[in-house]
Amino acid sequence: MADIVLDKVSKKFPDGTTAVRDVDLEIADGEFVILVGPSGCGKSTTLNMIAGLEDISSGELRIGGQRVNDKAPRDRDIAMVFQSYALYPNMTVRENMAFPLRLAKLDRATIDQKVEEAAKVLELTSLLDRKPANLSGGQRQRVAMGRAIVRQPKAFLMDEPLSNLDAKLRVQMRTVVSRLQKQLGTTTVYVTHDQTEAMTLGDRVVIMRGGAIQQVGPPQELYDHPNNLFVAGFIGSPSMNFLPATVEEGRLRTALGDLPIGDRIRRELSEADAPRELIVGIRPEHFEDAELVDEQTRDRGMEFTAPVDIVESMGSDKYVYLTVEGGRATAAELEELAADAGAADLAGSNLVTRLSAESTVTEGEDRRVWFNLEKLHLFDPSNGRNLT
Ligand code: ATP
Repeated sequence: MADIVLDKVSKKFPDGTTAVRDVDLEIADGEFVILVGPSGCGKSTTLNMIAGLEDISSGELRIGGQRVNDKAPRDRDIAMVFQSYALYPNMTVRENMAFPLRLAKLDRATIDQKVEEAAKVLELTSLLDRKPANLSGGQRQRVAMGRAIVRQPKAFLMDEPLSNLDAKLRVQMRTVVSRLQKQLGTTTVYVTHDQTEAMTLGDRVVIMRGGAIQQVGPPQELYDHPNNLFVAGFIGSPSMNFLPATVEEGRLRTALGDLPIGDRIRRELSEADAPRELIVGIRPEHFEDAELVDEQTRDRGMEFTAPVDIVESMGSDKYVYLTVEGGRATAAELEELAADAGAADLAGSNLVTRLSAESTVTEGEDRRVWFNLEKLHLFDPSNGRNLT
């Protein structure tokens, strides 16, 4: 069993920076877990503590049920893949991949067999006698992965392994990594700041901010049920729109009109200490050109009219930027949060919508737009908690 358990793990650097704070995380044997979050949130430090490249300041780390806090990296039986491939330029692909096995003093025949096997999995067989200089970026990264998998370690730790590749190669390599992990079934922890990688690669995603875990769950769950404003803004592209709302007589007053409130939320909001000011979250993909909404769907939502600032045609759909009076939530916290989460640059508009490609929307006009009331999120601005 090579499960990985972090039990109240923290990291405080000598200069006083607390990079990771009381992280509790249980990674099952064979699971593929992604650590994601904005720059400086503590992803790499967490990974480095698992690898043994950073000491743990407090808490316990267990791999395969064993406490490994004080174990040297080489005794943890895990393999790391970094952003930089760090291949030996004078060695062939075969020699690069064989290197960790030679260090482990395996016999020649076993080494050859393991390298051939790994090369097959990674489709590197025809390149085994080339030097790294004669390989493409994607091929080099595959060799770096090959070097990690030949050892058949208990776990793989990957720190932004694809971020040096161009966009197209990154997409290709994403499928390679995903297939590889499924095929080998090896516990994998993968750090990225790219939310597409986070959403497509892992069984579960861990969203970090300021050294702490914000939410852990399967990608779809994070998208459908974000715990708080930060996660809601971080997952999804373009990111969720946030609008200020006031609770008045059982309705929610917003720039898009008065929104009805469901019974459960109404009960919660009727408590004496319930917030009067809320934030409504609507994802861009939950808007549609009102002309294109059929009768049945129409009832699930509401319509409003707004001036169209910018139309970006993406082929499959259109990103349409609108301005609604008092639309954008202005709370300083929210602004900071949106910046942190890499929220879309709204280019002076305050609402980004994603409409069907068939929409005839044009810049400068006032357009009737529909949105789905069943997909709304409601947040308490005082603590960011999702009330829906
Ligand atoms: P990025 O995506 O930019 O790599 P990250 O989420 O991986 O960021 P870490 O590298 O883990 O973040 O850093 C977390 C925090 O710890 C940051 O505030 C960083 O400045 C700080 N930090 C990292 N290494 C050290 C160090 N050796 N000494 C002091 N502070 C450090």
